[in-house]
Amino acid sequence: MIRIAIANQKGGVGKTTTAINVSTALAATGWRTLLVDLDPQGNASTGIGVGAGQRERSTYDVLVDRTPIEDCIIQTSIPKLDLCPATVDLSGAEVELVTAEDRAHRLQASLRSNLAYDVCLIDCPPSLGLLTLNALTAADTLLVPLQCEFFALEGLSQLLQTVERVQQRFNPELGIIGIALTMFDRRNRLTDQVAEDVRSCLGQLVFETTIPRNVRLSEAPSHGLPALIYDHACAGSRAYIALARELLTRMPEERKAA
Ligand code: ADP
Ligand code: MG
Repeated sequence: MIRIAIANQKGGVGKTTTAINVSTALAATGWRTLLVDLDPQGNASTGIGVGAGQRERSTYDVLVDRTPIEDCIIQTSIPKLDLCPATVDLSGAEVELVTAEDRAHRLQASLRSNLAYDVCLIDCPPSLGLLTLNALTAADTLLVPLQCEFFALEGLSQLLQTVERVQQRFNPELGIIGIALTMFDRRNRLTDQVAEDVRSCLGQLVFETTIPRNVRLSEAPSHGLPALIYDHACAGSRAYIALARELLTRMPEERKAA
């Protein structure tokens, strides 16, 4: 199983949209996919059609009570795509775990067991706190959605510093599978310029696929559906299919079989 954390400490950059739609695309290609919602806002859970009333157990139980993740996972309406949902309780987990010695390793411990998935995507909250730290410690690799806006690179350098610290202290194997430029607007010269700067700065790390600003992507969650199912032909869905395809070419070979 390949574990991919989707993180960026900025809110509203497309983490959850990326998590939902890349998960759906991977499931559609036959990968047994697990989406782990690690944001107390639970947007990934809602967006995939699992309402608050259906979330009997959640990532809170996994982290705080060490409930086996298998007992928290729910099937979604999408074949091959399962979800470990999040509830608002999760916002208290950082405080409740503060004295636990293994507090950074709780998610890692739960994802290490023999789970019947080929890939696991972890949707992180918009901060670099203990929840994101758990994701980075548990993950094999990191996918960073980056919104094409003026301060994008500054936020990114802070994130990359955190990655280095995690590599030193908790997870030396943590890689970065790529940076995905999101909410790209071709008519806006600033986003064009930012995209160019990011590419010249980070080169190969940036996925060739950019995700356009597309209203269908923002409408889909209110229907409890991934955009890929809500409107599979819209520009946003097509971009996420291309991103998933590119992601597959970057997957570490030795992990695919495991
Ligand atoms: P994050 O998880 O980083 O906070 P979201 O994925 O929730 O970000 O996106 C923030 C908001 O922007 C949501 O309302 C989402 O529907 C919308 N959104 C995300 N990506 C796009 C896009 N490419 N085009 C238009 N709206 C988008
Ligand atoms: Mg989110």
